[in-house]
Amino acid sequence: MKSEPLSYLGKDGGPWEIFVEQVDRVVPYLGRYAPLAESLKRPKRILIVDVPIHLDDGTVAYFEGYRVHHNTARGPAKGGVRYHPEVTLSEVMALAAWMTIKNAAVGLPYGGGKGGIRVDPKKLSPGELERLTRRYTSEIGILLGPDRDIPAPDVNTGEREMAWMMDTFSMNVGRTVPGVVTGKPIALGGSLGRRDATGRGVFVTARAAAEKIGLPIEGSRVILQGFGNVGNAAARIFHDHGARIIAIQDHTGTIYNEAGIDPYDLLRHVAEFGGVRGYPKAEPLPNPEFWAVPAEFLIPAALEKQITEQNAWRIQAKIIAEGANGPTTPAADDILLEKGVLVVPDVIANAGGVTVSYFEWVQDFNSYFWTEEEINARLERVLRNAFEAVWQVSQEKKIPLRTAAYVVAATRVLEARALRGLYP
Ligand code: NAD
Repeated sequence: MKSEPLSYLGKDGGPWEIFVEQVDRVVPYLGRYAPLAESLKRPKRILIVDVPIHLDDGTVAYFEGYRVHHNTARGPAKGGVRYHPEVTLSEVMALAAWMTIKNAAVGLPYGGGKGGIRVDPKKLSPGELERLTRRYTSEIGILLGPDRDIPAPDVNTGEREMAWMMDTFSMNVGRTVPGVVTGKPIALGGSLGRRDATGRGVFVTARAAAEKIGLPIEGSRVILQGFGNVGNAAARIFHDHGARIIAIQDHTGTIYNEAGIDPYDLLRHVAEFGGVRGYPKAEPLPNPEFWAVPAEFLIPAALEKQITEQNAWRIQAKIIAEGANGPTTPAADDILLEKGVLVVPDVIANAGGVTVSYFEWVQDFNSYFWTEEEINARLERVLRNAFEAVWQVSQEKKIPLRTAAYVVAATRVLEARALRGLYP
């Protein structure tokens, strides 16, 4: 008898379809584990919750929340929580699956999870956001725990939300449990270096790729989509190493300055005005022109499905380092391959965040905290090793880095699964 296809996605498979296609592309390279690959196309468990809250005006509003465990063969589920008006089940499933691959590609002892609430957080007051976060945490509490599922920040969530999540979980179990979330404030058991870790990882892996093709960082041109947690940290670290940030796009528009944009100065503008638009020391650029700006590095650090068949042909960058999760569609991947653009895939390029999250979790267990230098040095070592292993597979098998990363990761996940066996 054949296994039944998943029924809960409806006709348009959404981002989950991208993940399934990525798995299909890797099956021919999985050898004896290939027959187990079907298990990657089926999330382990999905929880959909109603999140009702009192608004400040006294009325009640209802939001849809999700928590997905994609695979836990290698350890507890680990992955962020996203607040966005376009969050869907398919998106959270794909993001959870990318976490399974990412954790395995980097060698962290975790499975893949992700959560989200379909909400525009910009429309809620801080009090409403706190009630939303606490109710959501309570609703998904049956899945959480330092040895079960450890959330972290993602789009539109950060240290503040992690503090509320940690407190809510702790209140519900009657003791303080710092290790239930990562990306917390330092005062609550957060880790030094976590805030910039994803952007730092983008830089470390992009530089490792650049070394392979003899491209220096100093004097290179960088364009970024997204100037949030990931984008602005990556921009600052590239800038600190002598690169020139010449174009940035966010949800408010695109800015361009061939002479270079100072990301520290731009941060102050964004803090005041909510986005890059109107930054006085750069020119505005029509959004579609962003992709065609000549540069050595392109860093997508916003949302998924941004590099598509429509714009991939116009990209002039030599290296794309994926800060965002799933920014490139499989069709765009094929175009970029043909054009000779080196794509450092998300599952390696943005793994810096979860790597320092792992350090945070370990530090919380031991109640012993490391210095920022130690953390950054360990982060760099983990990511360089992961990049090197993926690079070797890509050279040996003559496959793109994304497929190579999936080969490394899927092999580890499926090996764990094979060793554990199928219960009962
Ligand atoms: P964030 O909320 O801090 O920033 C998001 C940025 O994207 C903002 O600058 C926003 O203006 C921009 N943006 C949103 N919609 C846009 C649009 N339509 N066009 C152009 N720009 C748009 O989020 P973040 O934490 O920096 O996450 C960004 C990406 O990185 C996401 O894909 C996330 O999953 C991924 N990621 C984040 C982390 C982390 O540690 N925060 C770790 C790994 C991966």
